[in-house]
Amino acid sequence: MIDKLRIQNTLQKAQQLSEIYNCKLNLGFSGGKDSIVLKYFADLYDIDYVANFNNTQIEQNPHQIQFIKSNYPEVKIIHPDKEKSFFVLMKKHGLPSIFRRWCCEHLKHSNNKLTEYRINIMGVRGEESNNRMKRGAVSVFGNSKRAAKTYEKLKATFANTDSQIQCESGKDKVNIYPIFDLTENEIWDIIKSEKLVVPDAYKNKRRLGCAFCPFESFGRSLETIKDCPNLTKQWLKILSDREFQETKQKNIVGKTNGTGLFYLYITQSLLTTDRTNSALKYLNQKDLYGKTGLEKFEDYINNVLSN
Ligand code: SF4
Repeated sequence: MIDKLRIQNTLQKAQQLSEIYNCKLNLGFSGGKDSIVLKYFADLYDIDYVANFNNTQIEQNPHQIQFIKSNYPEVKIIHPDKEKSFFVLMKKHGLPSIFRRWCCEHLKHSNNKLTEYRINIMGVRGEESNNRMKRGAVSVFGNSKRAAKTYEKLKATFANTDSQIQCESGKDKVNIYPIFDLTENEIWDIIKSEKLVVPDAYKNKRRLGCAFCPFESFGRSLETIKDCPNLTKQWLKILSDREFQETKQKNIVGKTNGTGLFYLYITQSLLTTDRTNSALKYLNQKDLYGKTGLEKFEDYINNVLSN
């Protein structure tokens, strides 16, 4: 059963915390189903917040900004500076991976256009992954002892629906997840019962997010190639650049081309040397019909992009 009292209590404490920190409360609005439900509750309980959409420019749903402008016009769209766009950063940092999520850090956690908001509410849910579940409904960013102390204090405060918030103003960024305990079914129940508008992309997708996220499965990335031809072309352009390969991906130079590197990336084959070697073998080996794995992958991409 949905514990609305807990959601209300968490939202009200988040607002109190933003007052203690003397800053506006930021509602991180992605335009996905979870942030739409979060916004619904924030409005229901009359929370004082500013909703911001952080435009990473790599959204899987190419119509996301238009969707937000049409249906949630009060949400502010925050565009990155040109030199901080995903592709410019990728040239500098190389490919992201599940161990090196520089894009999350640069595009989301330390976006310089959102630093004025130190208290954030987000539509993160525990059910999404074991790691998230373990982290709990509040995060404090920073490695200092002070941040660790604030985290312990806030964790205890948010676990208890009775207590008032007791915290001093601090310097560390705090993220609070008011709908942390909701399941996916409960999210959809609320969307249906409250007639909330969600993107059409949910008709054939369970989740929306960044295209070609290092956490995305190969099958999902194949779908993304179809849904996001322009983003796919941008990925291929950078990965085919010899300088990028020589400085950021020396292990593949001379063994495959940019499309092959893209295949290695979306199959998560770059995570270990063994996996890279085995995927390279597949890419370069001919099948019974004389086609290499790389040629088959190139055919798939060319077919999709020419449609
Ligand atoms: S692609 Fe994945 S890791 Fe990168 S910003 Fe998006 S969610 Fe984070």
